Amino acid sequence: MKNLGKFGQTKYDYPLATLTTFKIGGQARAVIWIEQEEKLVALIDYLQKIGCPYYLLGRGSNVLVSDAGYPGVIIKLNLKAISYQRNQHLYLKVGAGIKISHLLGLCIKHGWTGLEFMTGIPGTIGGAIAVNAGAFGHSIGKKVTQIKIFSPRSGIKWISWDESKYGYRHTKLSQDTFILGAELELSYLHPQQVSMLIKKYFCQKKATQPLFYHSAGCVFKNPTRASAGYLIDKAGLKGKRIGGAEVSEKHANFIINKYQAKAADVFALMEFVQETVEKCEGVRLEPEIRFIT
Ligand SMILES: Cc1cc2nc3c(=O)[nH]c(=O)nc-3n(C[C@H](O)[C@H](O)[C@H](O)COP(=O)(O)OP(=O)(O)OC[C@H]3O[C@@H](n4cnc5c(N)ncnc54)[C@H](O)[C@@H]3O)c2cc1C
Repeated sequence: MKNLGKFGQTKYDYPLATLTTFKIGGQARAVIWIEQEEKLVALIDYLQKIGCPYYLLGRGSNVLVSDAGYPGVIIKLNLKAISYQRNQHLYLKVGAGIKISHLLGLCIKHGWTGLEFMTGIPGTIGGAIAVNAGAFGHSIGKKVTQIKIFSPRSGIKWISWDESKYGYRHTKLSQDTFILGAELELSYLHPQQVSMLIKKYFCQKKATQPLFYHSAGCVFKNPTRASAGYLIDKAGLKGKRIGGAEVSEKHANFIINKYQAKAADVFALMEFVQETVEKCEGVRLEPEIRFIT
C-alpha cells in the first residue's frame, strides 16, 4: 500500500470531509488522483491483487462518508480532455473528471446549448452520468450518446448510452464500472442566450434550494406519487434537527450540515424522516445519496 505513488499523486490517511460538499466524514487510508487511463487500469489490477477495497469519487456532491472514514483507497479521476465534432449538431467528447460548472463556462463561451439545466449542480461529468443527474424535468442522460467505460472484466471500451439502461437517478452499469468519458449531443445558440438560460435556471435554483449550506443535494429520490420534498414538508419535518444536521427550511429534501454535523447525525435524521413520512404518508423514501463506509 505504500507504493501507490507510481499510479498517481497519492495522499495517505486523508480527511474525506475535504473532498465532499457535505464536509463530513473520516479519513481514507489513501486518496489517489489518476491522470491517465492506463494508470487506472494498472491501479485496479494492483488493488485487486492485494485485496484492498477502493471507491471512485467525483466531486463528492452526492455522497455521505461515515465518521469512521473508508478503509481503502479513494480514486479521483483527473481525466479532463475535451474534443468536438461539428456538423448540424455538436458532438462533444468530455473527460469524466471535468466539473459541470467548467463545462457550462465553455458552453457560454462557444454557444453550446442543451446543458443549461445542469447549472448549480456541483459535480463532475462522470458523477452526473453515473447517477443520471438532472433538474427542472431534464436529465443529463438525454444528452449522452455514448460513454467510455473501464471495468476489470471488459477493459476499456465505448458503449452506447442505451446499453447503460439508465432511468431516474440511476444507470444499470455494474458497480465496478468506471465512466472515463462521454459523448454529448448538443446544439448551437448565441452565447448570450446560453448565458441567459443559465442565469434563469440558477436564479430558480437559488430561490428554492439552500445552496449556501454544506449538503449533498436531495437526500431522497422522488417517489412516483409526489416529490420527496413535498412529503417531508407535509409530515412537518422542515427544521427538524438531530445533532448538527437539519432538514432545510428552504427545501425539505435537503439535509444541511448546519452545526458541524457528524455522519451519524445525518444517518439518524434520514432514518427519522423515512419513518415519519412512512407513518404519515404511507411511502418509504429511498435514499438518493450514496454511502461511503
Ligand atoms: C447544492 C447541491 C445541489 C444539487 N443539485 C442537484 C440537482 O439539481 N440534480 C441532481 O441530479 N443532483 C444534484 N445534486 C447532487 C450532485 O451534485 C449530483 O448528483 C452530481 O451529479 C454528483 O456528481 P459528483 O461528481 O459529485 O459525484 P459523487 O458524489 O462523487 O459520486 C456519486 C456516485 O457516482 C459515482 N461516480 C462518480 N464518478 C464516477 C465515474 N466517473 N464513473 C462511475 N461512477 C462514478 C460514485 O462512485 C458515487 O457512487 C446537488 C448537490 C448539491 C450539493
